[in-house]
Amino acid sequence: MSTFLNPKRTVAELKELRALTGDENGAQRVAFTPAWTKTHAWLKKKLEALPVEIHTDAAGNTWTTLRGESEKCLLIGGHMDSVPNGGWLDGCLNVLAGVEILRRINSQYHGKPPVTVRLVDWADEEGARFGKSLFGSSACSGNLDMNEARGLVDKDGIKLPDALKNVGINFERVKDSGKELKNAAAYLELHIEQGPVLLDLDLPLGAVLGTFGVERHAVTFHGQAAHSGSTPMNRRKDAFLAAAKMSPEIYKIAERSHGGVCTIGSCATRPGIVTSVVAECLITLDQRHLDAAALAKMLQAAKDASEQFAKEGNIKVSWERLWQIAPRPFNDELIALCDEAIRETCGKVHRLPSGPLHDAAEVARAGVPTVMMFVQSLHGISHNKIEDTKEEHLELCVTAFDKLAEKTMRWISRG
Ligand SMILES: [Zn+2]
Repeated sequence: MSTFLNPKRTVAELKELRALTGDENGAQRVAFTPAWTKTHAWLKKKLEALPVEIHTDAAGNTWTTLRGESEKCLLIGGHMDSVPNGGWLDGCLNVLAGVEILRRINSQYHGKPPVTVRLVDWADEEGARFGKSLFGSSACSGNLDMNEARGLVDKDGIKLPDALKNVGINFERVKDSGKELKNAAAYLELHIEQGPVLLDLDLPLGAVLGTFGVERHAVTFHGQAAHSGSTPMNRRKDAFLAAAKMSPEIYKIAERSHGGVCTIGSCATRPGIVTSVVAECLITLDQRHLDAAALAKMLQAAKDASEQFAKEGNIKVSWERLWQIAPRPFNDELIALCDEAIRETCGKVHRLPSGPLHDAAEVARAGVPTVMMFVQSLHGISHNKIEDTKEEHLELCVTAFDKLAEKTMRWISRG
């Protein structure tokens, strides 16, 4: 099969895309903008040489279908949109690797693979303009909150439904996209890791176990303002002191959780002046874990600690949930196939969870067996023009991902 696959072509096409849609600050393919439309025209040209059917669904996702002997579908997904000043690989690597795999499958099976193969380019994965990520895939999975999305406004005051109308999408009908998942038997997504785990292990590729569940809360400690000169230390009700104790505590909570992460991302004090004890301190806490029970335990531990620190300081604490999402573990059999594909390609594999959310989480949520493959990120950085991956690793990931696609086609045929 490898005689048909040309991973170097994928790297060349990524560079071509970078030249077409990037500038000195990085990739500029924000969803529903003219640059995004231009990207699609470019992609369509690449696909036209194949005997495929291409259409855009009700939510703006673009589907490329190579019909096979069976109606059962292997889905390969990615996203061509980027954040403003984004990296050159995030999202488009997945799609362009998928294009190369379609070419390989088409050549090897003379236009008629054993199962139908579909490449999907999800619309507005990044949520850069309206602040809500996974738009196209959550419309497709049926999980998009229509009331919330209807009210989303960009920084110029344009509403999401109006921005969609400009590119020919009727907001009220976006969930019709769900019918695209009919016959979907498996979903595969390749992505740059966007973190330093594979880099630190000196491994090019990893099999992804699933996406983290997230608990996001605002925690407010309520003390009492008092003069910084006249109030003895033992008489203070210092909201900041209690909040500050949370900082080392969350590191202990994360460590005990085996694989979870906790972040205090912001801290605001009132009255916030140099001459007063802090009356009120609000911190935000973001907790993530691949296991739902472990995530719940982390949350409870943080709540217990906050109560204890409040009690010690003779103050009060209150919690408000900002956002929550359950963990999305991927399919065990597909994880095993991904593992196998990576081993055959470069000998060694590491299994890791995904901290960031991906479209794959929505597809998994819709009940389609799903797995992702990660390729190492240099600097462990993305959403930045310095985002990069060694070219040899890019080539390896196309090869390994293609092996995974082939194994998954056989898995679908068997099942
Ligand atoms: Zn991405």
